[in-house]
Amino acid sequence: NKQVILKDYVSGFPKETDMYITTTSIELKVPKDSNGVLVKNLYLSCDPYMRPRMRNVEGSYIDSFKPGMHISGHGVARVLDSENPEFKKGDLVWGMTGWEEYSLITDSKLFKIHHTDVPLSYYTGILGMPGMTAYAGFYEVCSPKKGDYVFVSAASGAVGQLVGQFAKLFGCYVVGSAGSKDKVYLLKNKFGFDEAFNYKDEPDLNAALKRYFPEGIDIYFENVGGKMLDAVLLNMRIRGRIAICGMISQYNLDIPEGVQNLMNLVAKRVRMEGFFVRDYYHLYPKYLEMIIPHIKDGKIVYVEDIAEGLESAPAALVGLFSGRNVGKQVVAVATE
Ligand code: NDP
Repeated sequence: NKQVILKDYVSGFPKETDMYITTTSIELKVPKDSNGVLVKNLYLSCDPYMRPRMRNVEGSYIDSFKPGMHISGHGVARVLDSENPEFKKGDLVWGMTGWEEYSLITDSKLFKIHHTDVPLSYYTGILGMPGMTAYAGFYEVCSPKKGDYVFVSAASGAVGQLVGQFAKLFGCYVVGSAGSKDKVYLLKNKFGFDEAFNYKDEPDLNAALKRYFPEGIDIYFENVGGKMLDAVLLNMRIRGRIAICGMISQYNLDIPEGVQNLMNLVAKRVRMEGFFVRDYYHLYPKYLEMIIPHIKDGKIVYVEDIAEGLESAPAALVGLFSGRNVGKQVVAVATE
């Protein structure tokens, strides 16, 4: 069983060499009465939250990875054997699995995959955790209204590309920021954002936002934190909403940057709210009902960046923190 192992806790930017590949033996059978499910992993998902798990912290919302142990994360898999009455051999599932060829899953929630007439890898993205994040974050946390001015950061990524498209479908005016010319092109020409800009080309983010939002921002979908959040705080409209989904610019810092402009929340009566996708999984069936037809009729598109083979997983994960990924970063591990 080939596995990706975390070498040691990480500080600063993660590197490919913080992980290594090893092979161990595994019995391809689930122990009797264990309630476990043995799966063959097909696609693994690279997600920013995996970086904080490489740090030695206690009391976080999610356990740290253990040095010397394989990395775990979201994935799509085929059931090979099951002692869990909910799953049987041959089922396709998505959920928390291991960064390895085969995983024995005893303690995490798996979702059974029923729609297979879409790419299976989509269950790491648009039909999985990031899709639910965009859906819950936009519709439940942002309280959108038609005509709202919406700003999305890390807008071409797994979550951001969907938030922008949901906001357009809802009748909002949408601007996205991303870190390259190609990503800006995608935002405007593939995902239908009204405007987009490369934040790396903007020495003054406040001025950039004033250019794109002369009347201010109603909704900010926050994926990056740091300087971008500070600039957004200067540009919010009265009763605006900021959904704090994540702050990737802070994940590699030992001491997070301070935010200067929070007082603007008072003057503008802005609601800023953090959220966790896992509080919203009860909405997953409703989300599927909405999104599957949209995918089939082309109303919503999804861009993936697929790396081939378990060996490519460390580089793919590390690439999230320099913006190497264009769209949802997936690792294809095996064919069905
Ligand atoms: P992406 O697919 O968007 O990949 C990460 C992207 O972040 C990179 O491609 C890069 O794009 C951008 N980035 C990296 N470093 C920086 C930086 N220092 N400053 C600005 N941008 C940077 O990731 P996801 O869509 O999967 O995740 C987006 C956010 O959502 C993350 O903050 C993540 O933690 C959060 N999240 C939160 C969840 C929740 O339940 N609250 C669930 C899932 C995700 P670019 O080239 O544009 O810089």
